[in-house]
Amino acid sequence: MSELQAPRGTNDIYDEMMRSWEIIEDVIRQFMSVYHIGKMATPIFEHTEVFLRDNAASDVVNKEMYTFMDKGGRSLTLRPEGTAGLIRAVAQHKLYNNPEGLIKYYYIGPNFRYERPQKGRMRIHHQCGVEYIGVKNPIVDAEVIHLGVQLLQALGLDDFSVAINTLGDQASRDAYKEKLKEHFKPVVSELCTDCQRRYDQNPLRILDCKVDQEHDSFKELPKLSDSLNQTSKDYFKQVVDQLESLGVPVIISEKLVRGLDYYTDTVFEIISNSKEMGAQSTLLGGGRYDGLLEAMGGPAKSGIGFGMGIERLLVAAEALGITFDNQDSVDIYVLPLDNQDAYAHQVVTLLRQHGYVVEMDYANRSMKSKFKSAERLSAQAIMFIGENEANNNMVSIKNTITQQQTEIKLDQLIETIDADFNKEHDHHD
Ligand SMILES: [Zn+2]
Repeated sequence: MSELQAPRGTNDIYDEMMRSWEIIEDVIRQFMSVYHIGKMATPIFEHTEVFLRDNAASDVVNKEMYTFMDKGGRSLTLRPEGTAGLIRAVAQHKLYNNPEGLIKYYYIGPNFRYERPQKGRMRIHHQCGVEYIGVKNPIVDAEVIHLGVQLLQALGLDDFSVAINTLGDQASRDAYKEKLKEHFKPVVSELCTDCQRRYDQNPLRILDCKVDQEHDSFKELPKLSDSLNQTSKDYFKQVVDQLESLGVPVIISEKLVRGLDYYTDTVFEIISNSKEMGAQSTLLGGGRYDGLLEAMGGPAKSGIGFGMGIERLLVAAEALGITFDNQDSVDIYVLPLDNQDAYAHQVVTLLRQHGYVVEMDYANRSMKSKFKSAERLSAQAIMFIGENEANNNMVSIKNTITQQQTEIKLDQLIETIDADFNKEHDHHD
């Protein structure tokens, strides 16, 4: 029989990679807790409509979605991004009726996109995202961007640039779209078929086209900044000023428009300066969305958020030579002797119940193999449990650092080990 393989564009995550992954998640959890941001999990598939609302012209929606009919004849889609489902949930459960005014959630989970797999950009990739909903205030924008900056710094990925732009409010955007339509009107039939669709659905998307960048009409484009009204300009200035006072230098990048349709006002990306990252250098990106909650059936309240790809972070860490402290290790390795597996296992269970990371030899291997395991797992102590220990209700334990070996009665085991580990290794809880 031929070997089965994971589908193209998917990864199995285990061992070292999983441990790095969990370190990243721990850092994320710590930050979210300090910022008092609750976690939300939404379904990995939604009614397809959830991803079409307010976003119908984006490439993600048009080309990359895993959409299927379920057995009840409903069109469902594996989520291509995290924000839409979360905002759908906020609307559905009326979470916006929060007395604080501002509600904050984060998520970590898989996204699905049917696209050509590349390193750090797989068909299933995992994203951590943050959404702040209900208040439109420049300090909120600054806080969300600053949170992203701090997260990356805490992970050691501190060589990056923060690019920021404003798409303006709805009125500014509409004015700009009109200008773009006027601009492309004489040449629309010369553009690619995608751009012909974009021309009607959302001419802003034409600017991202990878096919038509060399077309003459791209040489002198109307500037978004010329269409911004005063409200939008003032708002953006306050965001940038606040970021600067938080110590975050930004690069204002007029070309930055982001790939999703629902963004308004502030959009941003944090981009690795590492040359090895190449086209995959965006570590984190997001923006404000004024109309999304309303499009999901909620009130007209604004939100802002970002998404950060976990696999992308791992690739970036590798490129920068950052290794997370993720060695596979245990506190105590238990070595049963004289067929005393059962008694050894009871001791192992007792230790685990007290929070120690314990491994034992279950396979009745040679002494040499057992010692090798203890060494490979950097055990701080090795416990020997043979006939003598079993008959006397005790264990023999050897400290691998001092090489000191002692016998301990079972009813004093936890007390003794607690004292030893706390004293010498500043151990658990
Ligand atoms: Zn095009």
